[in-house]
Amino acid sequence: MLRSFFITIFFWSLLLANSQTQAKELENYLQTLTCKAGENFALHIHGGVTYRNRPKRDEIRKAFIRDLLIRGKIALEQGVSALDVISFTLTSMENSGEFNAGSGSIPNQAGYREMDASIMAGHNLKAGAVASVQYVKNPIQAARYVMEETKNVLFVGASADEFLKNKLANADFPTLPPSYASTEDLSVKSPPHGTIGAVALDLCGHIAAGTSTGGFGSKIPGRVGDSPIIGAGTYANEEVGISASGHGEYFIRYAIAYDLSARIRYRGDELNQATQDTIRDLTNAGGTGGVITVNKDGSIASAFNTSGFIRGYVGSKYPEPTTISGMN
Ligand code: ASP
Repeated sequence: MLRSFFITIFFWSLLLANSQTQAKELENYLQTLTCKAGENFALHIHGGVTYRNRPKRDEIRKAFIRDLLIRGKIALEQGVSALDVISFTLTSMENSGEFNAGSGSIPNQAGYREMDASIMAGHNLKAGAVASVQYVKNPIQAARYVMEETKNVLFVGASADEFLKNKLANADFPTLPPSYASTEDLSVKSPPHGTIGAVALDLCGHIAAGTSTGGFGSKIPGRVGDSPIIGAGTYANEEVGISASGHGEYFIRYAIAYDLSARIRYRGDELNQATQDTIRDLTNAGGTGGVITVNKDGSIASAFNTSGFIRGYVGSKYPEPTTISGMN
């Protein structure tokens, strides 16, 4: 019903389209509609690994994630792209103040926030990232801007802020005034962890993954973890999407997200096996953290070696939105 409505609109618009650009836009739109042919979709979200039990806080975060799963499911069922769904999901989490990302970011040792984020589209291996930005309100949107509107992958620091502030303002993405870079010590109010990530498969069969964080609370100014590093904290290809949380230095050194994808691609490992084995190897290396994954069949898996990992999933294979913070 909705589909035929859009197709009718499409053909009318095509008749009225008076420029090549408009025709191209409409063609792209029809592309989106063809996603409806697919059967499987999935959305997997995390709110970071935890190192000690904080049941009250965990419940708030899980409730927030559950709401996003319900909305994400509706969007994916209607043919919305995985990229749009994870952008929406991570933007909402950045704005909530409940996680260590966006407005909830923990300040560094010097008392101001430095935020990192990355996003990747598995079907074309395009990626975008920002690191150590202070003024962009939504680092995940900045990462997406880098991916879609520039020929580059990673922008960092004050120059990135300057470049993106103008670009995102023009693109209608909100930025915050300089006072946002608070010098007030927020570490007592803020959670010790709570990096966020999302991975989705849409009805087109496209996988997208994204991660956003304020990094470690006690980090030295200028330190960058794995979250904005493609292949470390985030990765997606045609088979699998991955988002991580944990001790970033280990995730960079062991190229955790890419390593997991390689187990599937080159050794034919099954999703859950690859996910568990990657974290087993991280443990053996002395690293702590976890990953969430989604594959092209719409299956999900997760593994971690910390005391908890806040996460949730929904999809064609998991009709009931489910949130968890422990092993199962
Ligand atoms: N991986 C993040 C970092 O190292 C922190 C985290 O996930 O808790 O910056």
